[in-house]
Amino acid sequence: MQKLAPFSADPKLTRGRSVVEDSPAYRSDYQRDRDRIIHSAAFRRLEYKTQVFVNHEGDLFRTRLTHSIEVAQIARSIARVMDLNEDLTEAISLAHDLGHTPFGHSGQDALNACMKDYGGFEHNLQSLRVVDLLEEKYAEFPGLNLTYETREGILKHCSKAHARELGDIGQRFLAGTQPGLEAQLANLADAIAYNNHDVDDGLRCGLISVDQLREVKLFADQCQSVSQLYPQLEERRVIHETVRRMINYLIVDLVEASQESIRKAGVATIDEVRDYPHPLIVHSDKVREEALELKQFLRRNLYSHYRVLRMSKKAARVISELFDVFLDDYRLLPEHYHALSAEMAGNSTALLARVIADYVAGMTDRFAINEYRRVFEPGELT
Ligand code: MG
Repeated sequence: MQKLAPFSADPKLTRGRSVVEDSPAYRSDYQRDRDRIIHSAAFRRLEYKTQVFVNHEGDLFRTRLTHSIEVAQIARSIARVMDLNEDLTEAISLAHDLGHTPFGHSGQDALNACMKDYGGFEHNLQSLRVVDLLEEKYAEFPGLNLTYETREGILKHCSKAHARELGDIGQRFLAGTQPGLEAQLANLADAIAYNNHDVDDGLRCGLISVDQLREVKLFADQCQSVSQLYPQLEERRVIHETVRRMINYLIVDLVEASQESIRKAGVATIDEVRDYPHPLIVHSDKVREEALELKQFLRRNLYSHYRVLRMSKKAARVISELFDVFLDDYRLLPEHYHALSAEMAGNSTALLARVIADYVAGMTDRFAINEYRRVFEPGELT
């Protein structure tokens, strides 16, 4: 049994599930949450969704599935050493990207633009929608009926307008309070994972170079120590050794700075964590600056690389043209959606638009590309 700190999330004190269920016999409620997430269709789809690179660009790039597993690995390591709840941390980490559209951020921006007159589209809110509503598997409730704490962690950010519609789970965005430490941790583990694996993927595909990265302190420091220790090492191994040291450096800093901030805050329960005026899982100022420098480097050199931008442009077109054609005539949707779309269309265009957004957001990269062909290309089967 894992030892838990008094300010961690205790499954015996959970705020519970929307539909009351008996606790499982040999698992905690947070283990059950994690298991339901792993068995969801949205989780399996993460394998064919990407963040920066599109799925068919290569087999070695991170997908949202491997990204989520890396986030869970980093977050669980930290949770264990800090006596936070590992199962809850893992559940939040594995679920945090479930609501992402195909094609990463360009897909989300395109869908948000399509939905601008109908309430917009936020991937974070969509993750919550997936676990609360869209997974249709269980006999007694819609969605996965997860605990409050897992849902709290999944909803990382949210506009005030949406927060008002969400009841208890949206409350903290109106009150300006914090989520529990496991949620704060999964959030920072996400950034550690993607900054580092984007360096690795960016180098692998040649869109950025080791020489360029030497201008970034976080990379340069670790790369230099690897080169000193192993002067003959081939570049591929130098890169991996550097990236793994960067991850370790960030994790060690996060643990030490967070332990210090929790000690200073003197919080004794999860509710005191929630009411504390700022997050307690933090990096030191120095390392936060270094991580920011890396993030800005990636934004300038990788995410804005012309080849990435070309793919983003194509992705945005696929998303917005599919959305428009379905909104114009919902009878083009697959049969499964006909009854629901007809009902929504009879109510309001906004409700119909939401059904279409759910359909489009749930697509994997390759499904979206194939669906685009089936709908628009005369030579393709429908
Ligand atoms: Mg993520």
